[in-house]
Amino acid sequence: MALVVQKFGGTSVADPDRIRAVADHVARTRRQGDDVVVVVSAMGKTTDELIRLAAEVSSSPAGREMDMLLTAGERISMALLCMALIDLEVPAVSFTGSQAGIVTDTTHGKAKILEVRAHRLTEALAAGNVVVVAGFQGVSTALDVTTLGRGGSDTTAVALAAALGADACEIYTDVTGVYTADPRVVPNARRLPLVSYEEMLDMAATGGKVLALRSVEFARNHSVAVHVRSSFTWEPGTWVREEDESMEAAIISGVTHDTAEAKVTITGVPDQVGIAARVFRALADEAVNVDMIVQNVSKSGITDISFTLPKDDLKKAGKVIETLIGDLGATGFDEDNGIARVSLIGAGMKTHPGVAATMFEVLAREGVNIEMISTSSIRISCVVRADHVERAVQALHDAFGLADGTLGMLA
Ligand code: ASP
Ligand code: MG
Repeated sequence: MALVVQKFGGTSVADPDRIRAVADHVARTRRQGDDVVVVVSAMGKTTDELIRLAAEVSSSPAGREMDMLLTAGERISMALLCMALIDLEVPAVSFTGSQAGIVTDTTHGKAKILEVRAHRLTEALAAGNVVVVAGFQGVSTALDVTTLGRGGSDTTAVALAAALGADACEIYTDVTGVYTADPRVVPNARRLPLVSYEEMLDMAATGGKVLALRSVEFARNHSVAVHVRSSFTWEPGTWVREEDESMEAAIISGVTHDTAEAKVTITGVPDQVGIAARVFRALADEAVNVDMIVQNVSKSGITDISFTLPKDDLKKAGKVIETLIGDLGATGFDEDNGIARVSLIGAGMKTHPGVAATMFEVLAREGVNIEMISTSSIRISCVVRADHVERAVQALHDAFGLADGTLGMLA
């Protein structure tokens, strides 16, 4: 008898019919003899609607109350799914994140899981129940309800799989797996049967929307094999797990893009010891998630520092920088909402020179200007104008042969 964690995203539980279809699937898994822990997201666009509602009563909703509001979405799904399961004569019990023993830090809106005290879940499983847990939430060390950040139900699922020693963690969604590019932008994108944790981390960090970044970090750190698949077709999808030594890594596995970030440039910064430390400590203290950072050498003793960050954090970052400018002796700062990032990801890049050169040539041919560049050992990212990004993705997907099955072998 195996223990399976099955997570269902918002589109998978969007309406009563979908919830009954999920209940059928869970019931079938249970009847095969497996123990099942289900993690659910809020129905459809519920979380977005709740955020909109909050914005109508407050210009900057208090973090604690925002979390209290948003966690209601997942509560609705978990209770409805249990009702549907009980109708199928499958005993089922729902738990909020707090009841499930998911203990987090106190950062409202993007709390980190510190510990999972899963004894209530193991007791409920031992009593023969399907356990249904509200995703995306926990309880802080100060005993307040917290949320784990957008897409956080994936993290709940992986964390529970790790804590319970589950045999599989299945993430059901509205796509059939992880693709070489977003199929809405590149219609001939291909599904990848297997992606390594490292590649998936870089994909999730650069706009690949299938799995939330935190959940992939958690999966890698705890060696949880994740199977991403569709709750509409139920066919096998993409496995995210340790790289298979026997397989030769494709040079490029995918092209991702991200339009959710903005860019901040601090201009005329004196080239002195400790400036970057002060800027980024102040941002970190406000829990601003800084991503790419670029600072050039200074010839004349002053330089510019640019960084990217989620658009949602721009307001907060602007306030921080504004109060620092005078102290730093900088001349000013500038916010840019019109950027996007395009990234090439592939483990085989480590051993193949020339990938960056080809990427820049392709972008040049398309007339796409590169504003910032950053790399890791398996990724190259370029910041470009947002209205050029789809063209860039299509051209790169083509140039690296991702559609035709050669999977990223340079032509
Ligand atoms: N409902 C939350 C969101 O929309 C969490 C999740 O779906 O994973 O971000
Ligand atoms: Mg999701």
